[in-house]
Amino acid sequence: MKIVVIGSSNIDMVAQVNHLPAPGETVGDANFIQSLGGKGANQAVAAARLGGSVTFVTSLGNDMYADILKKHFKKEGITTDYIIDDINHPTGTALIFVANSGENCIAVAPGANYSLLPGSISRFSEVIDVADIIIMQAEIPYETNKKIALLAKQKGKKVLFNPAPACLLDEELMKAIDILVVNEVEAAFISGIDYTGNNHEKIAQALIEAGAQNVVITLGSQGVYMKNNQKTVYLPGYKVNAIDTIAAGDTFCGALAVSCAQREIDQEALGFANAAAAIAVTRSGAQPSIPTLDEVKCFIL
Ligand code: ATP
Repeated sequence: MKIVVIGSSNIDMVAQVNHLPAPGETVGDANFIQSLGGKGANQAVAAARLGGSVTFVTSLGNDMYADILKKHFKKEGITTDYIIDDINHPTGTALIFVANSGENCIAVAPGANYSLLPGSISRFSEVIDVADIIIMQAEIPYETNKKIALLAKQKGKKVLFNPAPACLLDEELMKAIDILVVNEVEAAFISGIDYTGNNHEKIAQALIEAGAQNVVITLGSQGVYMKNNQKTVYLPGYKVNAIDTIAAGDTFCGALAVSCAQREIDQEALGFANAAAAIAVTRSGAQPSIPTLDEVKCFIL
């Protein structure tokens, strides 16, 4: 299963605080944690741990994090040949405060992620040729995702698009998407239909009419719903002791790409992704929570 992931890499700087600071306030006694994130990187790591042969196209900045991330991706078995070195910007960074109550506030500085433009990707066409499936998210410029999706479609490659954070998609891009993966918030935003808790069929139908071949709506602890012109599938969520849902959606996308790279999307493929994401929510953090293929196999048995 050859998977090409095109997307963001971030350094997550997390300060755990008693309470979120008010404007002008300094909160002392914070506990600091630094971790590796970005939706693109999380999905690349997920696909690699779950058995995919992964090439990751991302843009890293002019700082020490670029080397740290490249070494990390290599250690995960990810091909880094197409990574871009942006000498003009820092590596993408997310500054996160998390209070004891669980409340958080986040500022993201996209840095080098925003210079992942079509013109900056060397051997642009070649990177698509190596893929069975291409996966993208919305933390890099829209025009890059669109250009990649259109070229991939033209070359007969599968495109899995996860428009997160939520963004509007034009008709041309929608028609190039084989598998659109959205959570309830993204589904409602893109379709323009308010989510009421049980109208995912109507929303999925609207997204199919807008051009996507297969629409997958992730429903958090409620599991996943999929619709295309032939069938609908609903799988309830696994009953697990959820402690942290960070990267659940990214684990789901990476897993689904692995299971759909060489075959049509079906109940088994969705079940694999549902299981991988359920394991991820039982663990803390983004990438540390992503399971391996053996762990998912044991969990499903
Ligand atoms: P996040 O942004 O937190 O990474 P998301 O909002 O993109 O996630 P969700 O719909 O919350 O996506 O979760 C993705 C998938 O993770 C779900 O479809 C399900 O398979 C799994 N999942 C999430 N939360 C739970 C839970 N509490 N119990 C079991 N599985 C869960």
